[in-house]
Amino acid sequence: MATKYDAIIIGTGQAGPALAGRLAGAGMKVAVIERKRFGGTCVNNGCIPTKTLIASARAAHVARRAGEYGVMIDGSITVDMKKVKARKDAVVRRSNEGLEQWLRGTENVTIYQGHGRFEDAHQVRVGDELLEADRIFINVGGRAATPALPGHDQVSYFNNSTMMEVDFVPEHLIVIGGSYIGLEFAQMYRRFGSAVTIVEMAPRLIQREDVDVSQAIGAILEAEGINLRLSAQCIALEKRGDKVAVNVDCSAGDKTVVGSHLLLAMGRVPNTGDLGLKNAGVTVDQRGYIEVDDQLRTNVPGIYALGDCNGRGAFTHTAYNDYEIVAANLLDGDPRRVSDRITAYALYIDPPLGRAGMTEAEVRKTGRKALLGKRPMTRVGRALEKGETQGFMKVLIDAETKEILGASLLGIECDEVIHSILDVMYAKAPYTVIQRAMHIHPTVTELIPTMLGELKPLE
Ligand SMILES: Cc1cc2nc3c(=O)[nH]c(=O)nc-3n(C[C@H](O)[C@H](O)[C@H](O)COP(=O)(O)OP(=O)(O)OC[C@H]3O[C@@H](n4cnc5c(N)ncnc54)[C@H](O)[C@@H]3O)c2cc1C
Repeated sequence: MATKYDAIIIGTGQAGPALAGRLAGAGMKVAVIERKRFGGTCVNNGCIPTKTLIASARAAHVARRAGEYGVMIDGSITVDMKKVKARKDAVVRRSNEGLEQWLRGTENVTIYQGHGRFEDAHQVRVGDELLEADRIFINVGGRAATPALPGHDQVSYFNNSTMMEVDFVPEHLIVIGGSYIGLEFAQMYRRFGSAVTIVEMAPRLIQREDVDVSQAIGAILEAEGINLRLSAQCIALEKRGDKVAVNVDCSAGDKTVVGSHLLLAMGRVPNTGDLGLKNAGVTVDQRGYIEVDDQLRTNVPGIYALGDCNGRGAFTHTAYNDYEIVAANLLDGDPRRVSDRITAYALYIDPPLGRAGMTEAEVRKTGRKALLGKRPMTRVGRALEKGETQGFMKVLIDAETKEILGASLLGIECDEVIHSILDVMYAKAPYTVIQRAMHIHPTVTELIPTMLGELKPLE
C-alpha cells in the first residue's frame, strides 16, 4: 500500500526545500526524499564550501601582499589546512543542519532519507516505503563527470566532493579542466601554498567566455605562479611511485607533468540514471538531462524537473529561480517562465568575473549593430585605492534600441557590480538610465556610467 501525498519532492538541492515550504504552507501534504546530505551540492560540495575556502585563500594572499600596503608581518605566512577545513566545515554545517532542522520542523512536510526511484508516473519507492502523489518534483542535481581518460584506473584523483576532505597542502596539485570549478580550486590551492598546474584540452581557459576574458584570467593565474598547459589534446594518466604523471601533449613545453595530487574538474553529469525515469515515462536528452518546457513540466503530466537535472541552468540561482517559476505557476496564477531570465553568473577567482547576458562573441554572431564600452581596472579609482587593478569591465549595447545586451566585468567586487547592469537589463531600460545615474564615490560601480559615456561601435 502506498502512502498518499499531495506532492513528492525528490532531492533537497536549491529548489526542493523552498518548494516544499511553499506547497506545505498552501496546505498540501508533502513528502521530501533525500539520499545524502540536506542542501545538495551547493551547500555541501559546491558554492558554500568553495567560497569559504576561497576566503581563507584570499586571507593568505592578502597577508603575503601586506608589505605593499605598508603593513609588516614578522615571520612567514603559513596556512594551517586543518583550521581552514574546520572553518569551512563549520560554515557548511550551519547551512546543512539549519536546512534539515527547518524541513523537519515544517508542518505538512514528511522527510524520507534514502534513494528515491519511480515505480510509475505517480509512485516513488524509498527503501521499503512506497509513496504516491499526483505531483512529483525532481530536484536531483548532478555530480562530477569522470571521463575515462587513459590510465584513470591506475591513479587516484579528487573531484569537487572528495576535495572537501582535504586537510593538507598538496605539494603539487594538477587540475585537469580549465573551467569554472577547476580555476577556483587551482587559485585557492596555489594561495594555500601548493604548486599548481592546470591542464586544459582547449587552446584557452573557460572557452565559453570571450578571448580577452580568457586571456586576462590566464594572466592573473600565471602571475600567481600557476602553470597553464593548454591545448592538451591527448591527456593520459600514469602512476609514478607515489606521484601521478599526466601526459599533456601540449604544443609547447614538456609532454608530461608530474604532480603529487590530481583533481578532475571536467564537467558535471545529471543524477538521472538511477531514478527509474523510464518507469514513469519521463524523457531525457542524449546527455541524461530531463526534458522540460518553459514552465519546467516534463513530458509526463504532474511531473516537473527543477535545477541542474533539467539542463536549463547549472547554478544555485537558476535552480532557485526554477522553484520560483514552478511555485508562481502552481500557486499564484503567475505564468513565469524560464525564458524570462537573463543569463547571469560569476566566476569566483580573485578578482571575480561577473557576467550578464551575451558575450561579445555572441553579440557578433547575431550580426546586429552594437556599441562596445571597455575600461581597464587600472582606470578605476576604487581598484587603485585597494591596490587591486587586475582585469577590465566590458559592456555591449544594442545600437538601435539602446538596451544592454551583455557585460563581462572582471575585477575587484565585480560579482556585486554586475547587478547594477543586470537589473537595468531586466527593466529593459536603455543604457542611458545608468549613464545618467549618480553613483556613490568611491566605488567600482561609479565607473559604469563613465564607461557607458565612452561607447564605440563594435567593429
Ligand atoms: C565546486 C562547485 C562550486 C560551485 N559554485 C557555485 C557558485 O559559486 N554559484 C552558483 O550559483 N553555483 C555554483 N555551483 C553549482 C551549484 O552547486 C548547483 O548549480 C546547484 O547546487 C544545483 O542545485 P540543484 O537543486 O539542481 O541540485 P543539487 O544541489 O545537486 O541537489 C540535489 C540533491 O538531490 C539528492 N538526490 C539525487 N538523486 C536522488 C535520489 N534518487 N533520491 C533522493 N535524493 C537524491 C542529492 O543527494 C542532492 O542532495 C557550484 C558547483 C560546484 C560543483
